[in-house]
Amino acid sequence: MNVPFIDLNAYHRQISQHLREEFDSALDSGQFSIGDKGKRFESQFAKFCDTKMAVGCSSGTEALWLALKALGVGPGDEVITTPCTFIATSEAIVRAGATPVFVDVSPDTFNLDPNNLSAALSDKTKAIVPVHLFGQMADMDPIMDFAKAHGLYVIEDAAQAHGASYKGQRAGSIGQIGCFSFYPSKNLGALGDAGIATSNDRELIENMRSLRNHGQISTYDYTEIGWNSRLDEIQAAFLSVKLRDLESQNRQRVEAAAKYRDRLANCSGISVPVVKSPDDHIYHIFSVQAPQRDQIIEDMNNHGVQCRSHYPTPLHKIPAIARVSKIVGHLKVAEKCASRFLSLPMFPSITESQIDRVSETLIQVSSRREPTSAATSQS
Ligand SMILES: *Cc1c(COP(=O)(O)O)cnc(C)c1O
Repeated sequence: MNVPFIDLNAYHRQISQHLREEFDSALDSGQFSIGDKGKRFESQFAKFCDTKMAVGCSSGTEALWLALKALGVGPGDEVITTPCTFIATSEAIVRAGATPVFVDVSPDTFNLDPNNLSAALSDKTKAIVPVHLFGQMADMDPIMDFAKAHGLYVIEDAAQAHGASYKGQRAGSIGQIGCFSFYPSKNLGALGDAGIATSNDRELIENMRSLRNHGQISTYDYTEIGWNSRLDEIQAAFLSVKLRDLESQNRQRVEAAAKYRDRLANCSGISVPVVKSPDDHIYHIFSVQAPQRDQIIEDMNNHGVQCRSHYPTPLHKIPAIARVSKIVGHLKVAEKCASRFLSLPMFPSITESQIDRVSETLIQVSSRREPTSAATSQS
């Protein structure tokens, strides 16, 4: 039995009638950019996140850029952020003209460690961008307290955290702005690219609404230089259909994660993720830690179990980012976990027998690869 890393085909077949109806309705309306379907989805998604408003845009990367621009983050400013993430988090900071300042992550959740914030503070610091990595939220209380004490903005990169929560608050509702991606493989995915920014601040929302459409406040009335970052009507319509299932699909992911945890409990050398609050993690990615990760991935793939690594290189080690960023401290945790991150197949409809197959293969493959466990089992 082969197990794919992600498989959405069955789900898409199940909802294809609804998707086709939405497509036909968009086609009949003749409206393909900034219209009723976009507005409907913005209010549905804002409600889902417990925020007052949201602005749809063309990707999660664009959402981050819009958020930084709307908050006035630009040249000369520093933004404290995490090196354990997808490149887009820092890319958007650089694109806005500011400098990413990397601090080390916490060894249990791999999210930005609030204890490292004060060492990174300078008179240029303007904002903090925490990432809710893999679907588990960063420790937001101390991050918000620090930001408040020093007059900084907080932008949540929630691109992996649609529906995750922290002490009863939804991802995207705690910082000034929350940014989400609807890249097809995300917990809520479009049938193409899309993104959204959430906020409770009407002025910020209006600012991003204008920025995503060339800085226009009304036709040919430009207040500033913006960009074309609009959300397609067709993607918005598809997203409204898929949003209905997000909550139950997140629960399926939590159940799948519990099964992995059970099967891998006694697998020597493999550490399962530490979870602060079991129902709050939405498992965009089920990432374990393994020594000799690259060989294990190769072996797993050879056995027909697709595995990957998110992310094998911390951002400060990527030359394009290293040239334009700063480092505070040694980032030892980030470097160590990046060398060990191993992502197992995870998607809502993953079956119990697929989970068994992945777990058995991992136990078999890693016992052969892990020198210390082999030595122990012989003694
Ligand atoms: C996916 C992702 C993004 C970028 O989203 P796109 O829609 O692909 O532009 C940004 N940050 C994180 C953490 C992501 O996982």
